[in-house]
Amino acid sequence: MSVPFLDLKAINLSQADELEAAFKRVLHSGWYVLGGETAAFETAFAAYSDSRHCVGVANGLDAIFLILKAYGIGPGDEVIVPSNTFIATWLAVSHCGATPVPVEPVEGGFNLDPARLEAAITPRTKAIMPVHLYGQTADMAPIVALARRHGLKVIEDAAQAHGARYHGERAGQLGDAAAFSFYPGKNLGALGDGGAVTSNDAELIERIRTLRNYGSKVKYYNEVAGYNSRLDELQAALLNVKLARLDVDNARRREIAAIYNERLAGIAGLQLPHVPAWAEPVWHLYVVRHAGRDALAKALAERGIGTIVHYPVPPHLQPAYAAMGLRQGDLPLAEAIHREVLSLPIGPTMTDAEAVEVADAVRAILAA
Ligand SMILES: *Cc1c(COP(=O)(O)O)cnc(C)c1O
Repeated sequence: MSVPFLDLKAINLSQADELEAAFKRVLHSGWYVLGGETAAFETAFAAYSDSRHCVGVANGLDAIFLILKAYGIGPGDEVIVPSNTFIATWLAVSHCGATPVPVEPVEGGFNLDPARLEAAITPRTKAIMPVHLYGQTADMAPIVALARRHGLKVIEDAAQAHGARYHGERAGQLGDAAAFSFYPGKNLGALGDGGAVTSNDAELIERIRTLRNYGSKVKYYNEVAGYNSRLDELQAALLNVKLARLDVDNARRREIAAIYNERLAGIAGLQLPHVPAWAEPVWHLYVVRHAGRDALAKALAERGIGTIVHYPVPPHLQPAYAAMGLRQGDLPLAEAIHREVLSLPIGPTMTDAEAVEVADAVRAILAA
């Protein structure tokens, strides 16, 4: 039996009738950008995230970028970002003309270490951007407390954390504003690109509503030099269908993670994801660490088991950031993570038998 890393087709086909009905509704509406479907999704996703407001945008990168723009962050400003993240977190900062300032993760974990933040704050710092990587929130309370003392904004990159909880509270309202992605492979995935910003700050949301639509509130009257970054009606309609099942899907991911936790425990050299008592992850990814990561991935592939490395090269070592002048060894915790991590298959349509097969394969390979 082969186990794919993620069976997106099966996930979407499991709601085929409802998705096709949504498609037909949009097709026959004759209205395709910024209409009732988008408004309905924004209301539903704000409620889901326990946030007062939500605005749909074109993708997750734009969601982060538009938050920064709406806060007036730009050239000369610094934004603290995790050294260990997907490059989009950094790119959004760079695209505003501001400078991403990387901070290392907690040892034994994957997310921003609150204890390392203070040393990275300068007079130019405007915001801290924790990422809830792999579906588990960062330790937000000390981050927010520090930000308040220094007058900084806290922007959640929640692109991998739809529905995750921190001390019982949903991601999306743990800081000042949050960015979500609905890229097809995310826990809440569209059938194309999509994104959203959630916040309790009505003024910020209003600015982003204007920025996403050419800087215009009234058609053909432009208050600011805005962008075209809209969540379209079709994706919003499909997301409305999928949002209704997100908690069920996340619960299934939790069951798969529990099988892995149980069956992978105690293997020498294999580090399982650490979940602090305050975290309720949604298991966007199930990420293990092993010094022989590449050999393990190869052996699993030979058994028909799909894995992915999230991510093979940290942002500071990407050619895209060569101009920053950071080198191998400058951010050792992130670098070690990128050398050792491996994401095992996980998804809402996976069976118990598939999870058992993956776990048993990992155990057998590492015992040999
Ligand atoms: C997916 C992702 C993004 C970007 O989302 P897109 O919709 O692909 O633009 C940003 N940050 C993180 C952590 C992500 O995983």
